[in-house]
Amino acid sequence: MSALVIDNIGLLVTNDPELGDGPLGTVRDAALVIEGERVAAVERAGAAGDERIDADGRCVIPGFVDSHTHLVFAGDRAAEFAARMAGAPYEAAGIRVTTDATRAASTEDLARLAERRRAEAFAAGITELEIKSGYGLEVDTERRLCEVAARLTGEVTFLGAHAVPAEYEGRADAYVGLVCGDMLSACAPHCRWVDVFCERGAFDEDQSRTVLEAGRAAGLGLRVHGNQLGPGPGVRLAVELGAASVDHCTYLEDADIEALAGGETVATFLPATDFSTRQPYPDARRAIDAGAEVAIATNCNPGSSYTTSMSFCIALAVRDLRMTVDEALRAATLGGARALGRDDIGRLRPGGRADAVVLNAPSHEHLVYRPGVPLVSRTVARGEVRHTAG
Ligand SMILES: [Zn+2]
Repeated sequence: MSALVIDNIGLLVTNDPELGDGPLGTVRDAALVIEGERVAAVERAGAAGDERIDADGRCVIPGFVDSHTHLVFAGDRAAEFAARMAGAPYEAAGIRVTTDATRAASTEDLARLAERRRAEAFAAGITELEIKSGYGLEVDTERRLCEVAARLTGEVTFLGAHAVPAEYEGRADAYVGLVCGDMLSACAPHCRWVDVFCERGAFDEDQSRTVLEAGRAAGLGLRVHGNQLGPGPGVRLAVELGAASVDHCTYLEDADIEALAGGETVATFLPATDFSTRQPYPDARRAIDAGAEVAIATNCNPGSSYTTSMSFCIALAVRDLRMTVDEALRAATLGGARALGRDDIGRLRPGGRADAVVLNAPSHEHLVYRPGVPLVSRTVARGEVRHTAG
């Protein structure tokens, strides 16, 4: 098998303390040897290979793992965003605007739009991502969204319980029956996960539990949107049911922190959402200090966080969620992998997937130190170059 070598790496972040210094397992003057889709070895600079990328003394990090996106949708909500910045409140009901546009779009149009966003994510250094359905809210469109998402990733999440559609206004229980019945049956074959928006104005605790248990009975792993717009039962329900991740976590009470610290569920923060909705930022420091596993994701979606920039999310996590730079980088790589229950991604070690990003910077600290500057020079996913910026 021919080898690709990323050589002359000034600073390599492996996320494996056994391979290098500190919790991030950093190695200076390194080479990353890749065979096929896998990392073959971490060596000293100057390693031999059939094909060579010269990192020229710059920093290489594991590819970002974006464990929370809604990439498949049609329509544009820029006007709603501008109105919100001018003082209008954020409401979960805005999801219906996207639902109307998405239902009206052809499957191929949805695929084309999603592929473009996937390319944008590669350019941002995202080598693996999760994609949720949730803008169909009826059986046929939800199935189409799951099919399109499955063309782009193995991490597809059924989110029929994203909002109560207009035609079920005031009949949320009846809609939950549809989600757990025909909709789940149509979508589950394309999915790995089930998710629910457990929030006032969306689905309450009982309804959320019903959706998650139905998904589990259909063979899906569990994820939860919780505690975004106010305190609520989402975090505790996710931990109780053993969900892989509970996402948003903007409002965390003491009991939520205790639950996260004592459970296996990853707390996933989506700081670009708090930015784009002018919500207060969560206190990730408390969760980390209590011992919770944390992740950062983009939540790329048209209503509350239309970004694929993980670097931006990392900068917010450091400045406003009070993570250290090292913690934020880990949360956006290994944390995302843990939130997806994956052992093969999120770090660079022999046998793991060869997902690496060459930064146009001498260290990962520049991701925060130079906010807004596109620092991804090269993205390698499964051993293949997927983006080159020079
Ligand atoms: Zn979301």
